[in-house]
Amino acid sequence: MIDFHCHLDLYPDPHKVADRVQREGIGIVSVTTTPSAWPGTKALENGRPCVRTALGLHPELATARRAELDLFETYLADTAFVGEVGLDGAAAQSTRHDQLDVLEHVLTTCSQAGGKILSIHSRRAASPVLEALQRHPDSGVPILHWFSGSMSDLDQAIDLGCWFSVGPAMLAGAKGRALVSKMPRARMVLESDAPFARVKTDPIHPWDLESAAVTLAGIWDIPAQAARTQLEQNERELSSSVADVGSTDRRDLGAHPPSCTDSS
Ligand code: MN
Repeated sequence: MIDFHCHLDLYPDPHKVADRVQREGIGIVSVTTTPSAWPGTKALENGRPCVRTALGLHPELATARRAELDLFETYLADTAFVGEVGLDGAAAQSTRHDQLDVLEHVLTTCSQAGGKILSIHSRRAASPVLEALQRHPDSGVPILHWFSGSMSDLDQAIDLGCWFSVGPAMLAGAKGRALVSKMPRARMVLESDAPFARVKTDPIHPWDLESAAVTLAGIWDIPAQAARTQLEQNERELSSSVADVGSTDRRDLGAHPPSCTDSS
């Protein structure tokens, strides 16, 4: 099982969490929110082939950190994974210009690099995010993380070839489940969005994703094992799309046991 969107570096003790995912054979895509966090977060991969690091610049930090776009360019060659990037319509109106500017720059740079796997934030901004993706069809494979747009936004995202990462927090709500039921099964993977996402009052961990697989099985009306098999197929498919986009960071993401054999 692979957690495609986890803020490993934002746990109080990231080493402890990273050691446990490695021990349990859970793959994680460890997303960063600023380019300057890259070296420290990337170092959490050491000795832990289950962990992959994604280079991000969170839209809520676009104004404060746009000066780090140079760093983004510097580090991009070191990874197949980009995120967390995107747009946030709930953030202050005054940041919109910077958000769009940063996303345009990120997508342009990813296109020039041959494409990446992108974990994308689109809260209250599904339309402008999809428009940006449409302008940059060579930026790679977009995974819309915790998608919360309208049904027509969802249709458009599906037409654009987007993937979706869904987790226990999204699946806890009726709107999330309704969206999930319309997503193509073959383009879905799991995410925790830990340590922010919670179910009831408890923060989610990557090892809690089993419950999401069981919920998906219910929505798909298939046995839990069949849902796990579908998700593993999807993980492998995404892995090969990284190869397609010419990455040097593919290693065994999506291999079985998932992502945890260091063959690089
Ligand atoms: Mn996140």
